[in-house]
Amino acid sequence: MSTDLPRYEHHIGGEWTKPAEGRYFSSINPTTATPWYEAALGTEADVRRAVRAARRAFEAPSWRDLSQPARGKLLRRLGELIGEHAEKLARTESLDNGKLLREMRAQLAGIPEYFHYYAGYADKIHGEVIPANSTKLLNYTQREPLGVVGAITPWNSPLMLTTAKIAPALAAGNTVVIKPSEHTSASLLELVPLFEEAGFPPGVVNVVTGFGAEAGDALVRHPDVAKVSFTGSTATGSRIAATCGARFAPVTLELGGKSPNIVFDDADPDRAAMGIVSGIFAAAGQTCIAGSRVFLQRGVYDEVLEKVAARAATIKIGDPLAEDTELGPVAFADQRDKIEEYVRIGREEGGRVLHGGARPELDLDGYFFQPTVFVDTDNSMRICQEEIFGPVLTVMPFESEEQVVALANDSSYGLAAGVWTRDLSRAHRLASTLEAGTVWVNTYRSMSPMSPRSGFKASGVGIEHGTEVIREYTRLKSVWINTDESPARDPFVLGS
Ligand code: NAP
Repeated sequence: MSTDLPRYEHHIGGEWTKPAEGRYFSSINPTTATPWYEAALGTEADVRRAVRAARRAFEAPSWRDLSQPARGKLLRRLGELIGEHAEKLARTESLDNGKLLREMRAQLAGIPEYFHYYAGYADKIHGEVIPANSTKLLNYTQREPLGVVGAITPWNSPLMLTTAKIAPALAAGNTVVIKPSEHTSASLLELVPLFEEAGFPPGVVNVVTGFGAEAGDALVRHPDVAKVSFTGSTATGSRIAATCGARFAPVTLELGGKSPNIVFDDADPDRAAMGIVSGIFAAAGQTCIAGSRVFLQRGVYDEVLEKVAARAATIKIGDPLAEDTELGPVAFADQRDKIEEYVRIGREEGGRVLHGGARPELDLDGYFFQPTVFVDTDNSMRICQEEIFGPVLTVMPFESEEQVVALANDSSYGLAAGVWTRDLSRAHRLASTLEAGTVWVNTYRSMSPMSPRSGFKASGVGIEHGTEVIREYTRLKSVWINTDESPARDPFVLGS
């Protein structure tokens, strides 16, 4: 296929590399529903080539012998360069996935902080000396990089989610091959030359674009990929875990969610209502942490619901590049079809649409959907149990703390939860009884590179962000040194 669209190649071993089979795919701008660039269609041959380049870079003295402080300096320089290119990268992301330019600018402002945080951590990765049962024995541990890390990412926050993987992976001394989502390859391809500009040796960071079933699967299966770090749906994560399990490769899986957002009678109703709106309608609901199940205690049910519905009705839908737009399109046509199907299912299950539930009337041809509020729902309904990944909220009343904790935890997911209350004791009780990797009290969607993030239950395996993530990208070796030069001891006794 040949078009006039701009074209991106794979980035392998520091070079733009044409796809082995010479094929490309086009990416659609979800605001206009038109193709706006082509990217190389990656196959197994491309993945093999990228993994070979990453393995070579891992073993090369230019990377292997780089001191930890020097690695940190490269990460710091990279963060600075990203800051200099932030506006272009934010626009590219907004054009690619339809999220608000305002939101992508804020993410791009945060990404250098991630690289700086792990730049500061690069020279703090170390083992420790362990007490031994003889003074003649020295036992110490060392943390070693794993080798080539395969990173597979979704489309909703492309660079932010990639950064959460590669910043710690590189700080720990690994090399990486990244397979971005087929829907959002452009920003990473715009970013990747900055690695070499920052001083990273060629081959330390490689990008193969294409589809998950082909390029992604080849990366997961490759025997030289020492670890797979995946963010995406629970269904794909489960398949990846099985493949990696069969070849004993460790995985980090950041998966889906169906997060509860709980408002007690004593909460500030205005703040709670805005927390609910932000939890589900920001990014058109396309965030893993979307607070898609709202539970309102009886005493505030009417008041908070009214505020949420009123704000939903005034949300400005339109071009995500416009400064006053509050809700852009969802990222691609199938995603909107999926949302529409769930709205149909919700109605069929007995839910009532209080607001939204349809495509808006707009002059744009893209994949827009109204902010939608469902009432008369029950937590056992499919729209309350399955991740919709769109601007669709279900609202349910509750009577007591005990009841709402049971309802909130009645989910296969366990990614995040919100609690709105002025009762300090209750806040702490819920923080410990809710089954979620993140609990927010009187706030929603707060995050930073310093704070660990993990999914409980079907929401994931492993940790991202914070200091503990370094364990995900290193292996621990125990080294024993005998300083005793006296005659050899009994060879048939353990520990001698
Ligand atoms: P997805 O369909 O699972 O895809 C994620 C990535 O995996 C894409 O790059 C995809 O490739 C690739 N992929 C698909 N099938 C694969 C396979 N068999 N082997 C290897 N790779 C494969 O998820 P998505 O629809 O892009 O993203 C939305 C999901 O991500 C939601 O469930 C959301 O909750 C979750 N998410 C979780 C977090 C978190 O931190 N927990 C953050 C953001 C999003 P292609 O798309 O190119 O085909």
